[in-house]
Amino acid sequence: MNTTQEQDNNNNDNVLIESNSSPTSASIAQLQSSSIKAKSDEFKARYTKGKRAQEIVCVVVFFALLAVSTQKMFTLYFVQNIWVFFIASLLAMIVADFFSGIVHWGADTWGTLDTPIVGNSLLRSFREHHVVPTQMCHHDFIETNGDNCMAVVPVLMFTAFSEIRDDRYDLFLLCFLVQLSFWIMLTNQIHKWSHTYKLPALIKFLQSSGVILSKRDHAIHHRNPFDKYYCITNGWLNPYLASIGFWKRLEEIITYATGAIPRADDLAWTGVDGDQQ
Ligand SMILES: [Zn+2]
Ligand SMILES: [Zn+2]
Repeated sequence: MNTTQEQDNNNNDNVLIESNSSPTSASIAQLQSSSIKAKSDEFKARYTKGKRAQEIVCVVVFFALLAVSTQKMFTLYFVQNIWVFFIASLLAMIVADFFSGIVHWGADTWGTLDTPIVGNSLLRSFREHHVVPTQMCHHDFIETNGDNCMAVVPVLMFTAFSEIRDDRYDLFLLCFLVQLSFWIMLTNQIHKWSHTYKLPALIKFLQSSGVILSKRDHAIHHRNPFDKYYCITNGWLNPYLASIGFWKRLEEIITYATGAIPRADDLAWTGVDGDQQ
């Protein structure tokens, strides 16, 4: 059973419980689609013109700063220190993958749509994604990448305008931060590709070779109750973090300290009961 079917069935279960009747297949489908549509409409209503304008500004500023920083990176003794570039590149991909896991886990696990600052942006998109996983495939470039661009603008302002000394340590820091920003910015686009059926051959190759998140790996996250494989840049860390129960241990510490229940709001939206799995 694929993810969309799982989601549809979960919503279907809710509707059946709420209606307390024995609907026909046709009415089940109607109730099911109206339930998903109602949730989807609420998510869309929260994507305001102000939010859209903020995202456009962030995307434009991001690419301007990336251009300046990249030009700086490739003009600073690049050939002589190619190994610095490759070590920084590898580390940037690993750290970006870990950041993607932390942010995804945090957004899936805690808070609500009314949480200040992140509720109507970050949390809204993750809640919507679990209710209608393929909805993000209808988001354009701005909506897909606006938030991630905003997150790394301060880093790129540093790399674009700070003075770089003529030594390998500064070059390493510059290469690392520029590429970290690039991969963080691209993470939601990569996530979107993992849900997209028709893709260019190059993207398929990058997925199958493991350079970016593969569809197969990400499908593991979309199994109820959405509590593992949170890393969505390249997914390299997912098996290792799963093997040590990293996210579960983190949740236990936070629940112990605050009393908060992991994924309480996400379960309310998806109508998924983890015990049913
Ligand atoms: Zn998720
Ligand atoms: Zn997904």
